[in-house]
Amino acid sequence: MQTDESERLYNKALKLMPGGVSSPVRAIDPYPFYVQRASDSRIWDVDGNLYIDYCMGYGPLILGHARPAVQTAVAEQLKLGWDYGTPIKAEIDLAERIQEDFPSMEMLRFVSTGTEATMSALRAARGFTGKDTFVKIEGSYHGAHDAVLVKPGSAAISTASSLGVPAAAVKNTVQVPFNDIEALSYALEKVDAACLMIEPVMGNIGPVLPEETYLADVRKVTEENETLLIFDEVITGFRLCIGGAQCLFGVTPDLTTLGKIVGGGFPIGVFGGKKEIMECVAPSGGVFNAGTFSGHPVSLVAGLATLNVLNEEGYRRVNGLGDLLRRMLVDLLAELDIRFVVQGIGTMFQVFFTDKPVRNYQDALACDVNRYNKLAAFMREEGIFLAPSQYETNFISLAHSNEDLEYTIRAYANAFERLYSLDVDTPGY
Ligand SMILES: *Cc1c(COP(=O)(O)O)cnc(C)c1O
Repeated sequence: MQTDESERLYNKALKLMPGGVSSPVRAIDPYPFYVQRASDSRIWDVDGNLYIDYCMGYGPLILGHARPAVQTAVAEQLKLGWDYGTPIKAEIDLAERIQEDFPSMEMLRFVSTGTEATMSALRAARGFTGKDTFVKIEGSYHGAHDAVLVKPGSAAISTASSLGVPAAAVKNTVQVPFNDIEALSYALEKVDAACLMIEPVMGNIGPVLPEETYLADVRKVTEENETLLIFDEVITGFRLCIGGAQCLFGVTPDLTTLGKIVGGGFPIGVFGGKKEIMECVAPSGGVFNAGTFSGHPVSLVAGLATLNVLNEEGYRRVNGLGDLLRRMLVDLLAELDIRFVVQGIGTMFQVFFTDKPVRNYQDALACDVNRYNKLAAFMREEGIFLAPSQYETNFISLAHSNEDLEYTIRAYANAFERLYSLDVDTPGY
């Protein structure tokens, strides 16, 4: 495996950008590979290495890389110009399309990132209810704005998880563990919360599924306490199925945030929900929201082109690939007598280096992060690009094939063998 050029570029980047990157997770140890090009399920780096990609831009690329339908839509838009400061019809087309698939989003607003979507949904919930406090799930990720950057841990008063976030910005943020309806019930009785923001399937501590009736109970308890329910479906929207987690689990939130897939790999965020809440958003109401790039033509047409490719049959096939890969991983681990946990749903999957199912953030903490990092490094040497952190989710795309999966399982087998021959004294995890 040749890495000279990536190493050289990274050393240059280190002098120009903090940690050499534009987003922290990309600072892979010892350095990230620099990409030359990508198509379908594959990425080539500047040193000529080829990878089967399961990072997939951290979620947006459900069609795989460089899908011609998206390329064409973007190229057509570029011919016509790409930034007008006044709306285009594609905005209405995409809004209608989203609303059709997410009927709970009676009205919606386009923004430029998932971060902006959750920030704006939270502001709308606070503005609509006139309440400041909100509840989030411990370890859930809703982007990089102040109110959600809180340290996990159920202290009475939240502390910021980042320098530069004032204590005042998080003092109204309350956290409860995932899959624990009692804790939520208790919190909502104690505080008068504007909303609960929740990833219906957690995706940012690795994939963690809601148990049996959890989401339905969440809906019930929030309703009883007059607290709005916000589903952050930035990952799960158009990922699990066309209507996202709310369709799959049959639970209707008051507000929804989308991002990632809806922009087809270009920057986007969407928040929307009940008409009376969304009518509070400027200019029809007093909740401020604005953005130079909001409803950007290129993101709109790329999003539309992406959604137009998606259909039931595609999801059946690709979710089937997810089931197959998870099954093959479980078999492989049984064969190697390694204790770890394979989790996921549909096209989302991850291997957790721990010996019991991960139900919430505390369980995820028990994972051997170093071991995962080594696994991911060995997998890159095998030609597989996994999400470079234990606490990210891997994604299968419509461009992946059965052959890709078989190659991937052989790579896992080799990588595990190397991983466990390093420390023969401590078999298991
Ligand atoms: C990625 C993500 C965000 C943030 O989206 P950005 O476009 O990176 O700002 C918010 N919520 C969830 C659940 C995410 O996975």
